[in-house]
Amino acid sequence: MPKPIRKGDLPQKPCQACGRPFAWRKKWARVWDEVKYCSERCRREPHGGKREAS
Ligand SMILES: [Zn+2]
Repeated sequence: MPKPIRKGDLPQKPCQACGRPFAWRKKWARVWDEVKYCSERCRREPHGGKREAS
């Protein structure tokens, strides 16, 4: 069997908003345990985007 390709062996976890797995990023190095969303958009709108803000 071929060896799996390891790209730096980065940790991953699923986004709390969209459910897609995302990989560790350098900017999250110090807050990885607190990161819940894959992107700024998901972070701002964790429930899919529909939202009645005033
Ligand atoms: Zn997301």
